[in-house]
Amino acid sequence: LSTDDCPPDVETLGRSSWTLLHTITASYPPRPSPALQRDTTTFLSLFAQLYPCWTCAEDFQKYIASDNGRPRVSSREEFGRWMCEAHNAVNEKLGKERFDCGRWEERWRTGWKDGRCD
Ligand code: FAD
Repeated sequence: LSTDDCPPDVETLGRSSWTLLHTITASYPPRPSPALQRDTTTFLSLFAQLYPCWTCAEDFQKYIASDNGRPRVSSREEFGRWMCEAHNAVNEKLGKERFDCGRWEERWRTGWKDGRCD
């Protein structure tokens, strides 16, 4: 058995969750319907309520309710950037390095330009 077979701690839960969230933005349509944009906003709000690390959830709820943090879901590019910025806000809080949001798509959708994911 490995630790993968144990209940997740906050770090493991976080890594898995960011993988899901960024991958949702990567598969989001370039031009989403108004209904999908509404559903996506609802999803983010429910996700922020149900996220099973309560202090994380509380801060994420505050973030998406703030002027800078309000979800932007009108295109894949915008949503992907927004998620990257939301993740950077958590990185900053935890004293981790900021990620270059100009490269979110290479990290989560296309693979890096140097071909290391091919
Ligand atoms: P992670 O931060 O999990 O990142 C995983 C990978 O994503 C990185 O290796 C990198 O390749 C890529 N990446 C990094 N930054 C970005 C970015 N800005 N945009 C795109 N890709 C990026 N933990 C706490 O201790 N306290 C909290 O309050 C807290 N709040 C959280 C809130 C949410 C909504 C989520 C999903 C997680 C939260 N976490 C929190 C967990 C925390 O963010 C990390 O997931 C955890 O600390 C593990 O960090 P890591 O260094 O392995 O990489």
